[in-house]
Amino acid sequence: MIDVLVVGAGPTGLTLAIELARRGVDVRIVDRAGEPFAGSRGKGITARTQEVFDDLGVIDEVLHYGFRHLPHRRYLDGALVAETDPHVHRSPTPDRPYDGGLLIPQWRTERILRTRLAETGVHVERAAGVVEFRQNRDRVHAVLDTGEQVSARYLVGCDGGRSTVRKTLGVPFEGESGEQAMLLGDVELDGLEPDAWYQWTAGGRGFVALCPFRHERSWQLQAVPFSDVAAQGDLSLPRFQRIVDDIADTHGIRLSKASWTSTYRVNVRMADRWRVGRVLLAGDAAHVHPPAGGLGMNTGIQDAYNLGWKLALVCSGARQSLLDTFEQERLPVAAWTLGVSTEGLRRISQRFVTGGSTDLAEGAHRDGQQLELGYRSSDLSANGAAPTGPQAGDRAPDAPCADSSGTPRRLFDVFRGPHFTLLGFGDSCVDLFRASSVAHGGLIRRVSVGAPESGADLVDVDGHARTAYGVTGDTLVLVRPDGYLALRTPATSTTAVRDYLVRVGVIDSA
Ligand SMILES: Cc1cc2nc3c(=O)[nH]c(=O)nc-3n(C[C@H](O)[C@H](O)[C@H](O)COP(=O)(O)OP(=O)(O)OC[C@H]3O[C@@H](n4cnc5c(N)ncnc54)[C@H](O)[C@@H]3O)c2cc1C
Repeated sequence: MIDVLVVGAGPTGLTLAIELARRGVDVRIVDRAGEPFAGSRGKGITARTQEVFDDLGVIDEVLHYGFRHLPHRRYLDGALVAETDPHVHRSPTPDRPYDGGLLIPQWRTERILRTRLAETGVHVERAAGVVEFRQNRDRVHAVLDTGEQVSARYLVGCDGGRSTVRKTLGVPFEGESGEQAMLLGDVELDGLEPDAWYQWTAGGRGFVALCPFRHERSWQLQAVPFSDVAAQGDLSLPRFQRIVDDIADTHGIRLSKASWTSTYRVNVRMADRWRVGRVLLAGDAAHVHPPAGGLGMNTGIQDAYNLGWKLALVCSGARQSLLDTFEQERLPVAAWTLGVSTEGLRRISQRFVTGGSTDLAEGAHRDGQQLELGYRSSDLSANGAAPTGPQAGDRAPDAPCADSSGTPRRLFDVFRGPHFTLLGFGDSCVDLFRASSVAHGGLIRRVSVGAPESGADLVDVDGHARTAYGVTGDTLVLVRPDGYLALRTPATSTTAVRDYLVRVGVIDSA
């Protein structure tokens, strides 16, 4: 029997499998499709997902292939009306090293995640869909369409919006499905410089956008042709060319070679239970939203990042109730995402109706980078007395510091990896950490943060760490493996940390 069977190797399943495999969990990941998905569909990577990718060790490659600060060049009835960069006012700050969204094709993101997963020794098993499963108190028994039977302690359905896992559980997927409103494709073309995300609106005729990708020949085409809706089934290159000629006719754009074409049907749906016994749902299997703001894939990746460390701990002996906090924390985030992406789509659609020039950036929410999302009301958030700075449940900010030899070292450098991090602010923490045994066999990395010459592990050279955490007196801050504050407590002893871990079921009291 294996520990975990991950069903589906999209971005959610791949992230979950990496999280489990790097913690030594015996995991298999299976996908019904014989080949990886070829399309660029979810192309926006938020700042928070970039922080996740930093922790997973794939951020350099993602940055290499991602466009940041790509201007939006907008035309109305053939005339250039605006060129804007939605991220123009963003720049990295000490506590937020990733300043805005990245544009990168989803197939590339998935390829990078698959390569990272392979480094752990786990490979996606293809043409191996789960067709049925049943569970009892101790295990889940799944049948693959290869005929193979797999027993696992847990099964996670990351199998997309039409999830077999969700349907087998009988969990309803409440919400609504709209019309097939948008055409999508990956095309090669001549006639445009790849220096902007081009967006054309032609009064009464429709909307076309062409987005280039860094180091790729292909562009993503999105089209809403008002006059051509009858031909929805036709996804041929000549039809795409006709639409471009009709709506973006001043550029002489010649499309060639389409590597992927599709229609996008807006679905707004969410499962109201994400865990039934030993089976869990994550990503599109649990929630689907309109593409406005580009949050769908990001939300799935962060579901997996939330679940991975909890499931790994449960597999190695932590209380099963830890898994209940997955739905408790992530379902409200998915509900929020459903709301803001639906509202974003409404704003974009309104533009179509009023006939103004449409900017896809209008679909984004103020917190479209997902840095403000958190879990304050979770059972895992123990605030103690925290008058200032981030509270338990908030995202743990970064800060530039230095190690004892003066070499620059960020808080994100010490967070990186599968452990909790116990930050000890103040010189007294140096002695406290020497005297205590709170590391719990590698579960927690203790890092004192102090003044130069204090003997602390990290020197808070310019006070950025204290500022980011709103720390005044000597304080302990426990940071979860997924980069959210678990606990703040005065640095008098480490008993509160131990009590917290016992209370939430991470360690037992013995
Ligand atoms: C046409 C289109 C355009 C989109 N555009 C955007 C966008 O602009 N921005 C954005 O953020 N999001 C967009 N999305 C959504 C985004 O792609 C998804 O949110 C994201 O792919 C979800 O990832 P996932 O891993 O949860 O599911 P998926 O990517 O759907 O992956 C599910 C995987 O499970 C596999 N599978 C299915 N059934 C089984 C089974 N029974 N057994 C084993 N494996 C199975 C599938 O083969 C697939 O590989 C778009 C989606 C589509 C379809």
